[in-house]
Formats: sequence, structure tokens, C-alpha cells
Amino acid sequence: MILPKSPASTLRAYCHYCVQSRSDLEVKNCTGGLVFASKKPCPFYAYRTGGKRAPVKVMRQFCLDCMGGGKEAVRECSIIDCLIYPFRFGKNPALARQGRSKVEMSQMSLLRKATAREISRKIARTGNRP
Ligand code: SF4
Ligand code: SF4
Repeated sequence: MILPKSPASTLRAYCHYCVQSRSDLEVKNCTGGLVFASKKPCPFYAYRTGGKRAPVKVMRQFCLDCMGGGKEAVRECSIIDCLIYPFRFGKNPALARQGRSKVEMSQMSLLRKATAREISRKIARTGNRP
């Protein structure tokens, strides 16, 4: 599998692949403003020149269009060397598993409350003396 770059750089790389050219002008002049098959703009169209930051959700939409709207088909896509493949669920795999889980958050919350109670008790006992 291709290691994911950022969604924005992946999208631009895909557009160059799509027009089969390294030329930014070719990408700019793409006719994806209205796709014949879907009668809609290509989901990447607004982001193709890099002027707007592409949300990763647009990758999901692109994959759904690619698979005719079938969520299951996107899940089971077997084109693992497609540049969009790592982003097909609308999530950035580079950011996955960052942050804390629900269990960790509730443990932290309990610890914070226990510490606050302990401090209040100490203040009550000592009358806030150092
Ligand atoms: S915007 Fe869509 S149609 Fe145009 S170059 Fe990019 S992927 Fe291809
Ligand atoms: S990852 Fe699969 S569903 Fe998504 S654009 Fe590529 S081939 Fe289509």
C-alpha cells in the first residue's frame, strides 16, 4: 500500500495522475466542473489548484462517486495502489489513534475530581495555611 501523504498533497497528486501530466495548467484546465457520468462536479474540482484546503471528507465523496455510491464497495475496494485508498473512509490514517480514548478520558476526569476533593479537604483541615 502507498503510504499516505497529507490529503491535500494526495489530492493534487491524484489530479496530476488524472490528467496524465505534471503541468499545473493541465490540472487547472480540467473539465471536472461537470462530470458527464454523474452530472455533478468532480469532488476534487474545487481543490485541484491547491488554493483551498481540501477536507479529508472529500476523499470519501470521491470514492463513493468512483463506486457508484456504494459504501460497501468503497470498503471492499481492492485497488490498494490507488492514491486515495488510505483516505477512502474519510479519515486521515496519519491522525488515527491520536488523542485519548473514552476510557482514558473518564479515568482522567475521575482523577481530576479526586484531586480537587483532596485539595478542598486539605484547605478545610488547615484553614488554607501554607
Ligand atoms: S478535479 Fe477531478 S477530474 Fe479534474 S483533474 Fe482532479 S480528479 Fe481529475
Ligand atoms: S480508493 Fe478505490 S474507491 Fe477510492 S478512488 Fe481509488 S479505486 Fe475508487
